[in-house]
Amino acid sequence: MNTPARATKVLIVDDEPFALKLLSRQLNQLGFEEVFSCQRAQEALAMLEDGGESIDLVCSDLQMPEMDGVEFVRLLARARYEGNLMLVSGENPQLLKSAERLASAQGLRVLGSLTKPLTQEQLRECLSGVPQSAGKPAEHSGAFDFAPEDLKAAISNGEIVNYYQPKVATATGAIVGAEALVRWRHPRLGLIAPACFIGVAEEHRFIDELTHGLLKAALACAQEWKKLFSPHFKIAINCSMDSLKTLQFPEAVARIAEDAGAELSDLVVEVTETRLTGDRVASLDVLTRLRLKGASVSMDEFGTRQSSLSQLRDVPFDELKIDRSFVQGALRDASQRAIVEASVTLANRLGIRTVATGVENVEDWTFVRTTRCEVAQGFFIARPMPADDLPRWAADWRTRLPDLLAEASI
Ligand code: C2E
Ligand code: CA
Repeated sequence: MNTPARATKVLIVDDEPFALKLLSRQLNQLGFEEVFSCQRAQEALAMLEDGGESIDLVCSDLQMPEMDGVEFVRLLARARYEGNLMLVSGENPQLLKSAERLASAQGLRVLGSLTKPLTQEQLRECLSGVPQSAGKPAEHSGAFDFAPEDLKAAISNGEIVNYYQPKVATATGAIVGAEALVRWRHPRLGLIAPACFIGVAEEHRFIDELTHGLLKAALACAQEWKKLFSPHFKIAINCSMDSLKTLQFPEAVARIAEDAGAELSDLVVEVTETRLTGDRVASLDVLTRLRLKGASVSMDEFGTRQSSLSQLRDVPFDELKIDRSFVQGALRDASQRAIVEASVTLANRLGIRTVATGVENVEDWTFVRTTRCEVAQGFFIARPMPADDLPRWAADWRTRLPDLLAEASI
């Protein structure tokens, strides 16, 4: 098992603001939390020469208007940059390989070159040797190599728990639900993020066992929170593609809800689009029957994958979560604004509720309140937290709310 990673600082250089945001988000998902970005290679060189931030990894585009990637790489070598380098480009792979060889020949430590659009898998593979950041000191999201037996034992020992991130109505700030996000409370390593162990449970075919336990806990909490916040409070869980392949999944969910004294209408099942591309017929069967039984089905990370629109046509989604790469910074980016607004309009036309995710600051909050997006979620409202902390957060949120509604009035 690897030791917890130390914080790794990453600098992305790309003239395209959207590409910067997307790669930054992909790196965050892999556990790199200290990610800086520059739209101009000159700024990046100035930042590296200044030495204020000691950068461990530079991800550079090749095609940039003022100083192209090849020139930038030459100047990086001249500045005796000693960190890692990854090249990213929409150029043809052959040209990209030549640039990679050129960088190596100049003595730079090149991890690889990737063609846009990058998949998470390619990125993970390319960066597998680089330690990720530990994020908040107590939470690990780096690359661990957990044995399935250890994870199974952790499930039995109650070390696998849900954290909860609240969702609020954009119009009133009312608490309308929460998303359950799994964590491993590891006795030695501290809090471990889902990206580090969900794959192990999937690969070794005990993801259903894990999901069922988390669902039971989430539905039990929802019963409390319905009394505390609203009878319409909904709890959301994330669902693995492997569970969607199990045709008995809706029945198992209904049984767990019954045992917890919950209605299936209390539940939102969040699925990402990629998870629907595997066994399509079985996924559609499972999702349609979940809806028939009264649960909501939500499309996570809307807009980031291929075929979002046909999924929207074919799958009985009743919620759409607009990906945070579109929401964050939208107030200052016309293209992002257009994408969010068009997504909300589309969802409204289809009678689907929308949730803006990744609301990180007052600007994002102000922006989503100007759209007709009903629900918001993100660090600005609350970070994921243990169940016991939710009532205290809610009290605090209610005191912040009058100012937040006045400040970001619509
Ligand atoms: P997701 O469904 O996209 O969940 C949202 C992720 O974004 C969470 O990361 C959350 O902590 C983070 N987040 C929320 N608000 C903000 C924000 O304002 N800014 C930023 N930068 N990040 C924000 P987390 O908890 O590490 O979860 C990662 C992924 O793991 C989730 O992505 C979900 O796909 C998966 N996951 C979580 N719990 C489960 C589970 O029980 N089962 C399965 N199969 N997957 C799970
Ligand atoms: Ca989710």
